Amino acid sequence: AFVVFEGGEGAGKSTQVSRLAEALRRQRHEVVVTREPGATGVGEQIRGLVLGRTTGPDALAPRAEALLYAADRAHHVATVVRPALARGAVVISDRYVDSSLAYQGAGRTLPVDEVSWLSSWATGGLKPDLVVLLDIEPRTGLSRVAARGGDPDVVETESIDFHDRVRYAFLDLAAADPKRYLVLDASRPADELAAAVAERVTGMLAD
Ligand code: C5P
Repeated sequence: AFVVFEGGEGAGKSTQVSRLAEALRRQRHEVVVTREPGATGVGEQIRGLVLGRTTGPDALAPRAEALLYAADRAHHVATVVRPALARGAVVISDRYVDSSLAYQGAGRTLPVDEVSWLSSWATGGLKPDLVVLLDIEPRTGLSRVAARGGDPDVVETESIDFHDRVRYAFLDLAAADPKRYLVLDASRPADELAAAVAERVTGMLAD
C-alpha cells in the first residue's frame, strides 16, 4: 500500500509520518518511510538545487523547477517506491504529486493540467492508495516553523498569498477525489491526528 502525507509548511507531516510508521511496525508490517524531494542520492542533489532558489538572482524558472521536482519523483518512484510496493511493504511518503500540483501549479501558477501530465509521465501513473492531507492555515503553520527555529534547508520567502493558493489547491484535490483522501485539521493535537490516521490506514490494510 502507498500512503502519502501532504500539507503546507508546519502542518506536522514529519511527526505524523513517524507516528504512522511506528504504529504499522507494531502490527508487523514492513514499512518504508520516504519523502520528496530528496529521498535518493540524486534526489538529495536535486533538493539542494531547488530549495532556496525560488526568489532572487539565482531563482529557478518555474518550468525548470517543475522539471527538477519531476526528475526527483521519477527516480524516487523507480528506485524506492515501486520496488518496496512490489515486495509488499507499506510505503509512506512525505509529499508526492499533489505537492507539485499545489506548489508548482497553484503556487507558481503553471498550468495545473500540464504539471499533472508531467507527474504522471514521471511516475508511470503510480497513484497513492491514500493521501492524508494535514490542512493548516498558513499563518499558523509558518509560525510553528518559526517557533522551532526554521527548517534547516528551506529559506521561506513566499508570500501568504502563495501559501493560501497552495492550501486551497490541496483542499480542491481532496474534494475532487474524496475516497482517496483523509483531510485532517492539522491544528488538532498530534495524538488525535495520529489516532485518526492509524485507524484509517489499518482499516484500509485489512480490506
Ligand atoms: O518536504 P518539506 O516540507 O521539507 O519541503 C521542502 C520545501 O519544498 C517546502 O517548503 C515546499 O515549499 C517545497 N516544495 C515545492 N514543491 C514540491 C515539493 C516541495 O515547492 N513539489
